[in-house]
Amino acid sequence: MRLDVLGSSGTYPARGRPAAGYLISQGDTRVWCDTGPGTYVALPIESELVTAIVISHEHPDHWLDLVTAFHAVCYGPNPRQGIPVFAPQSTIDHVLGIGGDDQFEGTFDFNPVAGGDTIQIGEIDVGFAWSDHSVPTVASRWEANGRVFAYSADTGPGGDWDKIAAEADLFLCEASYQGDMADYAYQHHLTASLAGTIARRQGAKKLMLTHIPPHLDPTLSVNEAETSFDRPVDLAVPGLTRKI
Ligand SMILES: [Zn+2]
Repeated sequence: MRLDVLGSSGTYPARGRPAAGYLISQGDTRVWCDTGPGTYVALPIESELVTAIVISHEHPDHWLDLVTAFHAVCYGPNPRQGIPVFAPQSTIDHVLGIGGDDQFEGTFDFNPVAGGDTIQIGEIDVGFAWSDHSVPTVASRWEANGRVFAYSADTGPGGDWDKIAAEADLFLCEASYQGDMADYAYQHHLTASLAGTIARRQGAKKLMLTHIPPHLDPTLSVNEAETSFDRPVDLAVPGLTRKI
């Protein structure tokens, strides 16, 4: 598999730093996972060529560019109907409530997924587990050719970690906070240190941090995660590509 980081900024985008979005590929299978603002223009392929789209949850920093992709796919030179979109039912309801009309609904084929579900997208098997977030959110585990990529989505410490990150070859984990979890009123995100601890406990082989908000120094986040992971830690930045 191959991971292309389209955007990684936490909570909102910044100049040159789109919000959450990744392209996960295996052979001819190309899945756009989270369509946060700014990630449409960062896609290395035309949006009508994606095999499917996965959206982890309804917070706008994870899906707004689905509306941008709708215009490109519907009104661009190669219109396409029925691009499969997999997301929690509450996310689908939310997206259709804001962006929905007949053309929008025809451009995409919305399919609800829940924690415990496993689906096949082309050459990739994708398993979902509920994360520990303030709205229904699916973390995901991607498997192809015996390799495993894990994505935490947005989550607090209580995620179903063994179903997501166990022995993952690459674990992409959110790290919205720095320092001590107790300093934060909203408990549905992770400190960088906790991301490292979870990755170590689950036996993840590599850890990459993402969803760091624009106002934090990511170098500090990486340092905190390396201390708890006890190994070097990668940082998700736009344009970064990793073979898994
Ligand atoms: Zn969120």
